Amino acid sequence: MLYETTRKALLKIVLKLHEKDFIQLNSGNVSVRASTEHCAITPTGMSYDDIKVEDMVIIDLDGAIIEGSLKPSSETPMHMTVYKNMPDVKAVVHTHSPYALAFATVGRSIPVISTEGLAIRGPIPIAQYACPGTEAQGWAAIQAMQGPPAVTGTLLKNHGVLATGTNLSRAFAAACRIEMAAKIYFLAIQIGNPDILTDEQIKEIRNVYLRK
Ligand SMILES: [Zn+2]
Repeated sequence: MLYETTRKALLKIVLKLHEKDFIQLNSGNVSVRASTEHCAITPTGMSYDDIKVEDMVIIDLDGAIIEGSLKPSSETPMHMTVYKNMPDVKAVVHTHSPYALAFATVGRSIPVISTEGLAIRGPIPIAQYACPGTEAQGWAAIQAMQGPPAVTGTLLKNHGVLATGTNLSRAFAAACRIEMAAKIYFLAIQIGNPDILTDEQIKEIRNVYLRK
């Protein structure tokens, strides 16, 4: 089996996302670069309740199957558009996590009101609407993440979350922090007007964290 270690690492992240209910049944998908030309990606139409290492699909950057008996995720064009145009991105996590998706449906970005919001390096943007399953969805995400400031994740209008990382764990962490930031912001606006951290405060916090 090609890229067995990469497939196992991908499965581990998929199961963690499933455990958190960030991906359910067969919604949401995850991919990782396996080499300069190949990626491992979750299959389409397969319930995450029964997914196995061999179900991960190995594809090239045009989405052609290199190894695997199942079809790659329907969001393959979105993932591959990100890899082709963002060379530093090594892993992509796409979820329909509920608090983030709720903000995505009303077209509201999430300001930085706590350290959770800083995990993707700035306010969580909202990408312009694009049809799911298309390259256009990938382009919309890229444009939103370019900032300024450049961030590692975004809300996808009426769709969900796209989080990136220089490895699978970082992309997973970004997806988790986006949902946490959305939940905290949702709760905060029920009880008042949350104070948004200033650029100066954000810079100060980042300097403290970077020193550690
Ligand atoms: Zn989706």
